[in-house]
Amino acid sequence: MNTLKNKVALVTGSTSGIGLGIARCLAEAGTDVMLNGFGDARSVESQRAELAAEFGCRVAYSAANMANAAEVRELIAQCTRELGQVDILVNNAGIQFTSPIDEFPDEKWDAIIATNLSSNFHSIKAVLPQMKERNWGRIVNIASAHALVASVTKSAYAAAKHGVIGLTKVVALETARTGVTCNAICPGMILTPLVQKQIDDWAERDGISKERAQELMIAEKIPTGQFQTAAQIGALVVFLCSEAAGQVRGAAMPVDGGWTVQ
Ligand code: NAD
Repeated sequence: MNTLKNKVALVTGSTSGIGLGIARCLAEAGTDVMLNGFGDARSVESQRAELAAEFGCRVAYSAANMANAAEVRELIAQCTRELGQVDILVNNAGIQFTSPIDEFPDEKWDAIIATNLSSNFHSIKAVLPQMKERNWGRIVNIASAHALVASVTKSAYAAAKHGVIGLTKVVALETARTGVTCNAICPGMILTPLVQKQIDDWAERDGISKERAQELMIAEKIPTGQFQTAAQIGALVVFLCSEAAGQVRGAAMPVDGGWTVQ
């Protein structure tokens, strides 16, 4: 508890799903938190206030669009202005779209590359100078099992997530002689709105119930037969932010129920 007291964490895409789970785990470990993501103003404000009240920390929010480089840079600047600094950067914002490549809309490709990959480049570039100056920083990129293996219909997503691993390794080498670490986590399947939409699409396409589509989706990929949870990802983020993880550099850590060892 409170192992990360006096640190400031910025979690992109933290109004839902995995990002929100990570923000909760970091707040529980003692950080102040900058939330980011889309959502209607009233529910985002109640999420922000609840987190602050539950963990007794400062919580700020920005609606910056991570697909826009200037807004990503402004997000880092806003966090620094409002919370004093950025010690921990978690690049989590991400989107999905599935289609065979010969029918894949160009604008969906561009949106996925911008949101899931280029945003990580822009945020890391903007935050590194202050982390190097303090000689302490933690960068955690939320990649995917699709950073390590492929699936049909996910050309843009798999390309972006494989790219995140390459970026992670380069940043880890460029910061190797500093107190800044950069690592990636590769979740398998977590029941968030992003995955629920794929289950719903599968059920509709094959004319089966959503429960059956969910069973088939897990059976196809996950040896444990279970979803992973946002809290499990958040716990690994907290570990990667600890002093004990100071020599973990450029790793791509699967949390995927065995998906990628097959
Ligand atoms: P989600 O849809 O529940 O949440 C995505 C979050 O990102 C939301 O807060 C949303 O508002 C935000 N977001 C989306 N586009 C944005 C943009 N342009 N600018 C700012 N914020 C934006 O999704 P999730 O399942 O929690 O996914 C989070 C991350 O985890 C993604 O990078 C995803 O690729 C990755 N991931 C998810 C799974 C899974 O099974 N759910 C598996 C592997 C990897």
